[in-house]
Amino acid sequence: MNPTCYMCEKPATSREHAPPRCLFPKREHSLNGKDLRVNMITVPSCDEHNGDKSADDTYLMQILPMSIGLNDVAEHYFQSKVGQVLASNKRLVKSLDESAVPVMVHDIEKDQWAQAMAFKVDMDRLMSVLDMNARAIYFHHHGVKLAAKMSSVTNFSLLEGSPKLNDMVNRGMKMADDMLNDVGASRHGNNPDVFFYRIAREGNVELIEFTFYGTSKVLFTLIHDVRE
Ligand SMILES: [Zn+2]
Repeated sequence: MNPTCYMCEKPATSREHAPPRCLFPKREHSLNGKDLRVNMITVPSCDEHNGDKSADDTYLMQILPMSIGLNDVAEHYFQSKVGQVLASNKRLVKSLDESAVPVMVHDIEKDQWAQAMAFKVDMDRLMSVLDMNARAIYFHHHGVKLAAKMSSVTNFSLLEGSPKLNDMVNRGMKMADDMLNDVGASRHGNNPDVFFYRIAREGNVELIEFTFYGTSKVLFTLIHDVRE
C-alpha cells in the first residue's frame, strides 16, 4: 500500500523536502565547493502539499539569508546565488526597498543594542511555509501526522514599534532553548550549517526548534491534548 501524504489522507505522489531544497546550496554555490543538497529530509506528499519549486519556498530562500549574524555558508550562498535571484524579482526588491527602515536590535543576553536595517516582509506567507515544514519534520521525526495548531515565533522578525514585546519573544525563545539544552535534545539534520532541528516534549508541551544558517531560529510550540 502506498503511504499517504504527511498533511492529509490522500495517497502520496512524491516526496516533499523539509525544509525546501532551495535553501541548501548546490556545489557551485556552496562555500568550499561542498554540495549541501544531499541527504535532505523528505516526507511522502500529495501534489497539493508538495511545496517543492513553489513560489513560497523561493520567498523563504530570499528572506531567510537576509538576517544579521548568519554563518559563512549563508553569506556565500547569498552572494553567489540568492542575491541574483532576488535582484531579478523586481517586485520584491521594490517592496523591500520601500519598506527599509533603520532599527535598533536588542541582544538580551549581552544587553547590547545594535543598529540594523529592517524590511517589511509578508510574515503570514513566511510563517505558513514554515508551519508546513514543521509538520513535515514532525512526521519525519515521529512517523505521525500533526493536525493540531502550533504557535510559532522567530528570532529574526521584529514587531513594529514594540521593543518590549520583542524582548518578551526573545526571552521566551531563550527559555525554550534552555529547556531543549536541559533535556539534551539532539540536533537533527545532515547539513547543520544550513538547517537543523531539535524537538522535545515535557508533559503536554512539545517544542520544535528550527535553526537556519547557524543563527536564525523559529520555535514552534505545540500543546498536546492531555487525554492523549
Ligand atoms: Zn496532502
